[in-house]
Amino acid sequence: MADVVRPSTRPGSGVAGSMRGLLRALYPICRSITGDGVRRTLEILGELVEIEVSEVPSGTEVFDWTVPLEWNIREAWIKNPRGERIVDFAEHNLHILNYSAPLHRVMPLAELEGHLHSIPSQPDLIPYRTSYYERTWGFCLPHDQREALAPGEYEVMVDSTLEPGSLTYGEHVLPGESDEEILVSCHVCHPSLANDNLSGIAVTTHLALALARRPRRYSYRFLFIPGTIGSITWLARNEASAARIQGGLVAANLGDSGAFHYKRSRRGDTSMDRAALRALQESGKPFETRGFVPYGYDERQYCSPGFDLAVGSLSRTPYGRYPEYHTSADDLDFVKDDELLGSLDMGLAIVDVLESGRAGAGEAAATPRTPGAGRVLVGTNPKCEPHLGRRGLYGPLGGSERGREEELAMLWVLNLADGGHSVVDIVERSGLDPDRVDEAVERLEAAGLLEERSA
Ligand code: ZN
Repeated sequence: MADVVRPSTRPGSGVAGSMRGLLRALYPICRSITGDGVRRTLEILGELVEIEVSEVPSGTEVFDWTVPLEWNIREAWIKNPRGERIVDFAEHNLHILNYSAPLHRVMPLAELEGHLHSIPSQPDLIPYRTSYYERTWGFCLPHDQREALAPGEYEVMVDSTLEPGSLTYGEHVLPGESDEEILVSCHVCHPSLANDNLSGIAVTTHLALALARRPRRYSYRFLFIPGTIGSITWLARNEASAARIQGGLVAANLGDSGAFHYKRSRRGDTSMDRAALRALQESGKPFETRGFVPYGYDERQYCSPGFDLAVGSLSRTPYGRYPEYHTSADDLDFVKDDELLGSLDMGLAIVDVLESGRAGAGEAAATPRTPGAGRVLVGTNPKCEPHLGRRGLYGPLGGSERGREEELAMLWVLNLADGGHSVVDIVERSGLDPDRVDEAVERLEAAGLLEERSA
């Protein structure tokens, strides 16, 4: 079978050096879902590939969501009663709760305590925490340091701005013979965290560089977007482009030493799913596959029932399954050059299978499904997830383990409330406790997010 000729990425340290250089340049930047950190990141990527940057003003309605105020930060620190800076954003940008509102005040330790975040089981690491949709402030620090804080008055400074501005994302398009598109999407909203997701950014960028040198049947669209709100914003503004997407990959956690992990699209048997599995099998290396779960990265939005795109996710160790995840231990040493190169090769191998048609047709488009016995509900916001947070249905602090199971039940119900699944079907497919699913249905109905399918 005639494979597309592909230049090896192996000889010398050219590609590895380029990826490492990108990681080093991006690591110190404080990114968030909006702000200058994302702009600077896209500027740096723009030195390697042409990036079309979009700025979407705060307040823009995107499906059920609204583009938030823009966040920027210059300085943030805590001084102890002796006037010594004991926590300083300048030393590590994970120290600030991402999206912290401005503040400068002296307060007793008891009050400060309510705004501190640490991980008792990993007492020497700084956790990564965010609060995008609930206005607050906070600091993250090693638990050991927190435990040692003496009572007294602490001076707290957060020199940030939360103002009308815009949400920034970047796109790079490689046209092919066909205008049918393959999507590669990565999130660019995390601050100093190397595997999640500078690895995904580096692999995506170098995939674009490698594909630019090859003949292409498909067109390729690379999205560099803030997680969740970025994909929702892109989908809201690009429904016509979305309709041309034949398959896609969300690229994340691609630099650790774990085996590859492919998460299937919602439909589960698309040509993208087949191509990924075929490339993984042909690699001869150990890998894992997992069925679609409406949790994780932006595949949640691409695979929402109103889009149901053939988008899976490629990672090494998935989010949340390595101890360094969302902590200061996810640093530049945690990500290895060989693993980044291997991930790039795997991305290219998947593309080869797609381009050569070796994956077979797969399920070309979503086919209507007949629901099983039981109640059948339809989501009132089928395009992307509805905003659960502003309805009080979602934990306000992103990045924490809290309430994950309840959220997961709601996300399953919303994802499968497409008229083709009964509540019994949802219990079956999700594998969740039926009581948990019933509770989720009840809460979502009360919030007006579900309605009975009209006969
Ligand atoms: Zn993350």
